[in-house]
Amino acid sequence: MDMPPPLSQDAPAGASPLHWIDDQAAAMREELLRLSNLNSGSFNAAGVDACGARMLELFAPLGASAERIAVAPYRYTDDRGDWRERPLGQAVRLRLRPDAPLRVFLCGHLDTVFGAEHPFQTARPMGDDRLNGPGVADLKGGLLTMLLALSALERSPQRERIGWEVLFNPDEEIGSQGSAPLLAEAARRNHFGLVYEPAYSDGGLASERKGSGNFDIVVRGRAAHAGRNPEDGRNAIAAAAALAGELHGINGRREGLTLNVGYVHGGGPLNIVPERCVLKFNVRTSRHEDEQWLLDTVGRMVEQAGRQDGYALELRGGFTRPPKPVSAGTARLQQLLGACGTSLGLQLQFRPTGGCCDGNNLAAQGLANVDNLGVVGGEIHSDREWMRVSSLAERAKLSAALLLKLASGELTWS
Ligand SMILES: [Zn+2]
Repeated sequence: MDMPPPLSQDAPAGASPLHWIDDQAAAMREELLRLSNLNSGSFNAAGVDACGARMLELFAPLGASAERIAVAPYRYTDDRGDWRERPLGQAVRLRLRPDAPLRVFLCGHLDTVFGAEHPFQTARPMGDDRLNGPGVADLKGGLLTMLLALSALERSPQRERIGWEVLFNPDEEIGSQGSAPLLAEAARRNHFGLVYEPAYSDGGLASERKGSGNFDIVVRGRAAHAGRNPEDGRNAIAAAAALAGELHGINGRREGLTLNVGYVHGGGPLNIVPERCVLKFNVRTSRHEDEQWLLDTVGRMVEQAGRQDGYALELRGGFTRPPKPVSAGTARLQQLLGACGTSLGLQLQFRPTGGCCDGNNLAAQGLANVDNLGVVGGEIHSDREWMRVSSLAERAKLSAALLLKLASGELTWS
């Protein structure tokens, strides 16, 4: 792979850190094209690690302590209803001045939703101010936003007041189960969090986020010949289908709670009564208390279905990310960022979303955070994914302005 050296830290004497960011824009655009072309689908552990290695190179000039950390493998239910594991790439953690009076946590994921086999593998300029490519917005543009913001801070003589911790995690797109302990650990020892998911396509930022849970139901019936003795069979697909209808009926019963039956697998040859069926669904909640309601409701449905003669059902999974309300701390951080935006001529708008991300994990541990400080982009998770090139410097300056003003005492965090 042809990888140029990391960013030069040279700049004319007296250049302000924010102007320095503008000077890096062209190099960062090229770096983003390279990062996008480097496949790092969540299950492409080698690709995720290559992306992590490049981050280590790019961040090396900042002088932080760096470590690569193995995370637990991804655990899932296969099509036969058996537990399986898949290995993941490593997380990368950087820390600088961990004893500083104000400690900031910054994070972004190395993985994308596009696996090594996916046809969408290459980045290209779109002819306007945009790039199209896998992960250009979600979240590789954000990784470079973070790099520029921290590089700007490190160019300031007042940097000593701020300590920072960076986490690049390998598994956000599959729910951050492996990196959840690292997020929780960071949440406990920092004052607030900055997460580099992409901003909305109009430049807006997320305020509250829904919570999310993934569940599997394994339905076991009994196989039999479909012509000779179908009465001896117990059709697992039929039982799963009835259950899918009931689960779908949960929609509309609690405000803000939605349930999506997203996967069903069962059966084989048509002359066999199918003995197994696996059904998977996702739930979104806007209130923490709805989680228990959902668990009770689904638990009763599964128990009921399992009482039918000859059937056995198993419910797996749970809520992994609770809803993220706007806490007092998060409101304060939004306010500070809003002020920094204004100083840069940006009018930041915060609005709620049903999507969730590592910001939910941090909020669950009580860490105030704003979680889409990355580049402006859209149509993420599709082969039309794009990012606005000029937003890389724009958003880096937003984060840098916050860090620099906190370092100088112009803004305070309390
Ligand atoms: Zn993302």
